[in-house]
Amino acid sequence: MDNINLEFSDFIAIKKRVVIKIGTQILLNKKDKASLASFKKITGFAYSLIKQGKEVILVSSGAIAIGRNILGIDTPSGFLTIPQKQALAACGQTILMNYYASAFKKYALKTAQILLTKEDTASRKRFNNARNTIDELLRNKIIPVINENDTISTDEIKFSDNDYLSALAANLSCADLLIILSNIGGVHDKNPAIYKNTKKVNVIRDIETYVDGFKENTKSRYGTGGMKSKLEAAKIAAKTGIDIIITNGKNTGTLKSIAEGKLNGTLILSSKSSINKKKHWLLFGMEKKGTIVCDEGAEKAIVYGNRSLLASGIIDIIGNFKKKEGVYISNKKKQVISIGISDFNSEDIKKIKGLSSSEIKSTYNNDTIKSALVVHKNNMVTIAL
Ligand code: GLU
Repeated sequence: MDNINLEFSDFIAIKKRVVIKIGTQILLNKKDKASLASFKKITGFAYSLIKQGKEVILVSSGAIAIGRNILGIDTPSGFLTIPQKQALAACGQTILMNYYASAFKKYALKTAQILLTKEDTASRKRFNNARNTIDELLRNKIIPVINENDTISTDEIKFSDNDYLSALAANLSCADLLIILSNIGGVHDKNPAIYKNTKKVNVIRDIETYVDGFKENTKSRYGTGGMKSKLEAAKIAAKTGIDIIITNGKNTGTLKSIAEGKLNGTLILSSKSSINKKKHWLLFGMEKKGTIVCDEGAEKAIVYGNRSLLASGIIDIIGNFKKKEGVYISNKKKQVISIGISDFNSEDIKKIKGLSSSEIKSTYNNDTIKSALVVHKNNMVTIAL
């Protein structure tokens, strides 16, 4: 994009479904209090996109901070226990939704709350349920407002932050644009909070390489993100062909100019080598329960031949998993070469590992063991070593 704004207006014009990610800091004023005014900025921006015929989904943080406001707690996050934070989120979430509902009223738009945990996106069934709900809401012109279900999210099942959640939500809802609102107006060559004379990066074309070389990570005061986490989220979204804009969500002028087709912030273009939605889910959404170790022949067939994993190429099993659960597939050196869904449970694979198709048929051929195909290529995504 040499004449960025000319091409950016075309770029934004063709986007149909947009996820807007709103961090806690965007909703707080200088005294760390939420006010309707900040919500109006966001809903005004959302409405300007809706008026252009786009569908809009919000991923909003803020529940814990608003919970603090209500209960008058200003203890730094590091000193709060997980149940204390969960209780604050439970108090704040309803008020957060009230703010959105009030601010959207001006445009006669209704909102709906969707609370997700990592487990929900890890199960293909729940993932599809969430997708169907979002589709139905949008069909009815209702704005889905997504947050993490903090009440039941512990460290183990927690999205690391809402930046990551927004990337999964964008994939889950088949969005074609993710706008991450930050309190910094985009990605800079150096951290603007520390250095003077920093330069904003207008366009990033190769997010994978960019994020690898990116060092700065200043966390916001009450949110858990930082620019690095936004770039990591952008990398995940870009993998499925979703473009990303990181921009200043505090500034009404900035938001207005984006809606009008002028780039204000950093545009991250999705990778050309984007993977399909199912493979994206295998990589980032699905929980992996164990590892199938395969021999060199199977490794070559998977990595270079795009072939399924057969029992004959399996040499070992690590962990216990059920049929249709997610697994890593590793080579002899225990390097992960692929991720997939196993068509057998771990105990049955132990019985048939190393056996050919005819050996399996002659020895077993019962209801559970009748084929040599352990992970089908359509349920597998290969990882570059
Ligand atoms: N779910 C948390 C909240 O609503 C925010 C998590 C985050 O932004 O990292 O307060």
